[in-house]
Amino acid sequence: MSAVSRVPVVIIGAGPVGVTAALLLARHGVRSVVLERHQDVYPLPRAVAMDDEVRRILQAVGVHEEFAAIARPAKGLRLLDARHRVIGEFRRSEHGHHGFPQTSMFDQPELERLLREALVGRPECELRGGVEVVGIDQNGGGPVRVTFRREGSETPEYLDAYAVLGCDGAGSLTRQVIGAVWEDLRFEERWTVIDVRTHLPVRSWEGVEQVCDPARAATFMRIGEDRYRWEFRLRDGEELDARRVRELIAPWVEVSYDGDVEVVRQAQYTFRARVADRWRRGRVFLLGDAAHLTPPFIGQGLCAGMRDAHNLTWKLGRVLQQGSGEGLLDTYESERKPHARHMIRLAVAMGWAMTGGQGSAAALRRSLTSAACRIPALREAAGRDLSPALGHSALIRRHTRLGGRELAGTFCPQPWVGFDAGSIRLDDLLGDSLAVVSAVPAAPWLRAVAEALGARIIGTDDLGDDGTLAAWLRDGRADAVLLRPDRVVVDVVPAGADDFTDTAAWAPLLCSTRLPSPTEPLATARLSRSASR
Ligand SMILES: Cc1cc2nc3c(=O)[nH]c(=O)nc-3n(C[C@H](O)[C@H](O)[C@H](O)COP(=O)(O)OP(=O)(O)OC[C@H]3O[C@@H](n4cnc5c(N)ncnc54)[C@H](O)[C@@H]3O)c2cc1C
Repeated sequence: MSAVSRVPVVIIGAGPVGVTAALLLARHGVRSVVLERHQDVYPLPRAVAMDDEVRRILQAVGVHEEFAAIARPAKGLRLLDARHRVIGEFRRSEHGHHGFPQTSMFDQPELERLLREALVGRPECELRGGVEVVGIDQNGGGPVRVTFRREGSETPEYLDAYAVLGCDGAGSLTRQVIGAVWEDLRFEERWTVIDVRTHLPVRSWEGVEQVCDPARAATFMRIGEDRYRWEFRLRDGEELDARRVRELIAPWVEVSYDGDVEVVRQAQYTFRARVADRWRRGRVFLLGDAAHLTPPFIGQGLCAGMRDAHNLTWKLGRVLQQGSGEGLLDTYESERKPHARHMIRLAVAMGWAMTGGQGSAAALRRSLTSAACRIPALREAAGRDLSPALGHSALIRRHTRLGGRELAGTFCPQPWVGFDAGSIRLDDLLGDSLAVVSAVPAAPWLRAVAEALGARIIGTDDLGDDGTLAAWLRDGRADAVLLRPDRVVVDVVPAGADDFTDTAAWAPLLCSTRLPSPTEPLATARLSRSASR
């Protein structure tokens, strides 16, 4: 047997989720090896829409400025009827809660290249391409052994790791190894996805259009300067040739001869809605498409996977680098699975609105959808962040409150804040550890709690923001909040109170044997890149 090397974390799969997980772990000082079957990024058309919560994750891995250069904000979502009349419109703001446009359009291979370039610059990460993982074994509490083979070789090689992250996509080997099975959320349809480049004028409102037509449900969006994406639902056994594609895109662009449009890629997909029944066995975890599959109608597959990586990596960092107990890792599945299921159900509901089934019931469903879209409160609700708060977990106690918004489990907003002579985004100021954001001068007891947790205290009065954070705390009737490194609120100090609401629940999970020095803001070099808006 060849010599076995040891590494804290092995990540299987260098798709967007695996590479993001490696970069986030690196931020927490954790080394990882990413094993990937292919040498280069997967080139076929896939994700094109991303929400602002996930752009915040790109900020955490240090590629948000590069991403801004390849992305464009989308105005929102329009539902059209079969004759392309608008039956509903949900606007998305350019200035979302997370400090970025609520929806951004992009090209997945371009994003993946950015992420891989960032990986090359991190000494804590190693990417091995052309390597197929063939086995994962864990015995008791010892290290997890990963067996892999290099392209063209039959000789097995081994890596031992404290933890293994299965980011190996829909056909995940990791999912089989941990004995997980799919829970089927009952959606399965064949669609074709066509990416086109053209110099012709295309009728586009700079947002996503969903054609609600059971005869031919479709999605259209502009994804770049001269790049457009159409998705059409296919009938059983149907294939679309070039002539038929031209007919189908005619409502948006008039093509007189083939050379007018270049079909960059055309691929068929079966869209499914599924969630793995377990996301963890021991120290082997599932993330991304390995753990959940969604139809892409609200642009959430990749987004959900990035959220998985964000949720799990700071917890692994705390266990590995700061001596927190492994119980913290249990909260990964309990927080992420209900959230992923919720988003998949929303996507399936959107599919339902678009296709509505067949026959007279379909007509009724479409008029109901159209009527619902005209109710201002519903329209406004749909325009807010689609992503719900994290539910109850051992780390997050949500309480029924008599007044004010429940902040536990929600994301802290991200305004620009003053720094030196310029301004930076809040997360860049907060750094990578826990933080307390307080609207009142920190009392000695709060200082003691923050010190015990290795958390930094930030006063809203000192931030020099536009008042966003103080207003958000007021809304939640809170004097202060405890934020996790992924910027989710753990607990609040209610206005006028002199303690958090449930310290006994989260303190044992967050306590550490090796505390970092109170979090410093990021290195000046890094700040200077995002210091000016
Ligand atoms: C048409 C379409 C449109 C979409 N639109 C959107 C959208 O707008 N917004 C959005 O958020 N999402 C969208 N998605 C979903 C998104 O593309 C996926 O959710 C995302 O790619 C999942 O990333 P991942 O890293 O989990 O898996 P993948 O991207 O599948 O990566 C898994 C990696 O693991 C590697 N691997 C697998 N097994 C092994 C092994 N045994 N050894 C070594 N390597 C292995 C694979 O080679 C692959 O590189 C869309 C998907 C489709 C198909």
